[in-house]
Amino acid sequence: MSESKNRTDQSRRAFLATAAVAASVAVVGLRPRTASAAGENLPHLSESDPLAKSLGYVMNASKVDRKKFPTYKPGDRCSTCRFFLGTPDQKSGYAGCQIYAGYSVDANGWCASFNARS
Ligand code: SF4
Repeated sequence: MSESKNRTDQSRRAFLATAAVAASVAVVGLRPRTASAAGENLPHLSESDPLAKSLGYVMNASKVDRKKFPTYKPGDRCSTCRFFLGTPDQKSGYAGCQIYAGYSVDANGWCASFNARS
């Protein structure tokens, strides 16, 4: 085999190896992230957190003090709030909230900052 043919074969192999790696990276990069909600791994917001307490945050919307927070309407919950970073159809679990940076809130929770998704 000639020296020139060896170099050509090595270049072709190097090109194919680079193309294969690039294709793999592209496939991994495009993988859908449907299985995870944004901020789901953040610490859970406590009802006793000072800001949460002042806004009446509860992990279960059925526990809202309706006398103190008359704006609450049955059916309102974090997963239907525009500040919730999870998916709108999320029935349970935790996701981030734009109001409580650094924490995740319960999809079934509620607070006085509730603002329905449009
Ligand atoms: S702002 Fe919305 S998502 Fe965040 S805790 Fe209050 S009701 Fe839930």
